[in-house]
Amino acid sequence: MPSHPLPPGLHPDTLAQRVAMERSQYGENSEALYLSSGYVQPSAEVSARRFGGEDEGFTYGRSGNPTVSSFEMRLAAMEGTEAALATSSGMSAVMLMLFSLLKAGDHVLYSQSMFGSTIKLIGSEFARFGVESSIVPQTDLAAWKAAIRPNTKLLFAETPTNPLTEVCDIQALADLAHNAGALLSVDNCFATPVLQRPMEMGADIVMHSGTKYLDGQGRVMAGALCASDALINGKCLPVMKNSGMVLSPFNAWVVLKGLETLDIRMRAQSARAHALALWLEQHPLVERVYYPGLPSHPQHALAMKQMSHVGGAVVSFDIKAANPEQARSQAFHVLDSLRVLSLCTNLGDTKTLLTHPASTSHGKLFEVQRQAAGIGQGLIRVAVGLEHVGDMQDDLLRGLDTL
Ligand SMILES: *Cc1c(COP(=O)(O)O)cnc(C)c1O
Repeated sequence: MPSHPLPPGLHPDTLAQRVAMERSQYGENSEALYLSSGYVQPSAEVSARRFGGEDEGFTYGRSGNPTVSSFEMRLAAMEGTEAALATSSGMSAVMLMLFSLLKAGDHVLYSQSMFGSTIKLIGSEFARFGVESSIVPQTDLAAWKAAIRPNTKLLFAETPTNPLTEVCDIQALADLAHNAGALLSVDNCFATPVLQRPMEMGADIVMHSGTKYLDGQGRVMAGALCASDALINGKCLPVMKNSGMVLSPFNAWVVLKGLETLDIRMRAQSARAHALALWLEQHPLVERVYYPGLPSHPQHALAMKQMSHVGGAVVSFDIKAANPEQARSQAFHVLDSLRVLSLCTNLGDTKTLLTHPASTSHGKLFEVQRQAAGIGQGLIRVAVGLEHVGDMQDDLLRGLDTL
């Protein structure tokens, strides 16, 4: 697809404003939203070439759309990959990746701390089609190494994880994957390309839920895969054309415009998260704070190296309690006392969102599984937005001070 003839060597924050499809004949400054399912062909000959894949023009919405292309080009530029492919949600990006890269008898290795639906999709759904998988502890490199099999084709990691912000070593996992003839995919949802560019650390595929920070204001669902031209256009695009989990042009336009402010939002939300984490760590009723920017975080040094010295915008904390029942009722009290911040299952919004993982994202696990995963009944996740930190603290104190 043609793009503006931008000069080489532009910085990521410039690319986030400028990479997109060429302007139309009207010269619009904000990228156009092209709502069209079909495209008029200039001639039968050109149409035949487009359908044959020899010519790049648009034909039908399941195969491509100019607004969706703009989003893909811009995200690829920000991640530093040759290409990207947008999908209807983060989970459909995972599904497209698995469909495109694996067959029955192949083996996938992934962390036990990954997003819950990712674990279900690989461990249950793809298992029905003969794709084998093993789960390993997120931060135990020796366990990753020991679990590799001759048929291992894909290592899949997420860093930092939800909700405990565990960090794994991307470069070390990439080396492990490549020595085994496998690929490494990284779910970069929590850090975004502003803080972490997995490709520069050896990853082969970067996966995104665009629903989170890329949109940034909690409006639309979106997803994407970023990788080499060979993987995206050679492996994933043909599967996409026949399966159709395409991103709608409207959602692509919202997320495309979201990318323009991603850098300042990530930095401002992370600064607030850091301040909130420091404050929570001092509170007498807080047992433990999980935040990669704190020296108390087990992978603090690695996180700072990998994430541009910024801890991200998600903070989780455990409330002190004598037993799980008390922990749960105390956590519920804090959440029910909020008057400004939202009790809401999402993250990456400019509005601060709180969740109780043990009864929501991790609610279907047995208590022993939950404990093994470190998700206590007193755990609260705060996806920090852009409100004033003092107001966030006051809202949390409404509950913490009345326990
Ligand atoms: C939300 C999320 C997903 C799934 O994305 P959807 O857009 O909800 O499908 C995957 N990974 C992580 C880390 C997420 O937070």
